[in-house]
Amino acid sequence: MLNWLVGALGALIVAGAAYQKQSLSGSGAIAAILMGTIYYGAGNLFWFGTLLLFFFTSTVLSKYRQSSKQDLEKSYAKTGNRDAGQVFANGGIGMVLCLLHFIYPHEAWKLLFVGVMATVTADTWATECGSLSRKPPRSILNGKQLPAGTSGGVSWLGSMAAALGGVVIGAGAWLFSQWSGLESHFMTYVSAGLLGGLAGAFTDSWMGATVQKMYQCSVCGKAVEVHQHCGEQTKRSGGWSWMTNDAVNLISSMIGGLVAWLAAGLL
Ligand SMILES: [Zn+2]
Repeated sequence: MLNWLVGALGALIVAGAAYQKQSLSGSGAIAAILMGTIYYGAGNLFWFGTLLLFFFTSTVLSKYRQSSKQDLEKSYAKTGNRDAGQVFANGGIGMVLCLLHFIYPHEAWKLLFVGVMATVTADTWATECGSLSRKPPRSILNGKQLPAGTSGGVSWLGSMAAALGGVVIGAGAWLFSQWSGLESHFMTYVSAGLLGGLAGAFTDSWMGATVQKMYQCSVCGKAVEVHQHCGEQTKRSGGWSWMTNDAVNLISSMIGGLVAWLAAGLL
């Protein structure tokens, strides 16, 4: 019972601060309080700490040199202040895995979780750092140069950031696991984070280039994820109608989780 109270209090403080700093919208803050309470109440510091590690690093990165990225942010659906949908897209599968582990404890849930959090972290770091790259990104499908901010575009800087994000989540999850008094191997967690994060982030880019619901700006001609660009309504340009940005995040997170679990099993 105490864990649920501690979780609720911790989540309230973090979500309240994020709301004040406009990193979370009102609905996003409520979703984050619910999520944090479950992560700590049904889980422990391993689950809650790993979620916070994703949240803090992503928030700091998105604030860093924000002015130079403002133009690009308009092309993405996932940046800026997060609403409930984005909070659940980033932390929802982790919450389900935490509850499954609560009901039926097994190491596999934790490794899947490391891969899921590594994916959302790698994806966010890649988006934030890749958008600072001086060189234009290249298509994940054919290597051709793309305008900055195009879905499905990858860069070395973004890929390095994705790898680093995955490693940080793996190492952090191991540390929180140790602090919770659980037995875990450092290299297993770091490998799971690195490979899960990279697999998930590249799946996200690949889906962005192929099946994700996309729009085209009638002013600048860019393919974007949003309904409005350059002050005008955008037109549907491709992808499956149900394959929204949140759906792509969910699917790539599951792939990242599976790869992390497999990697941990093989190593
Ligand atoms: Zn435009």
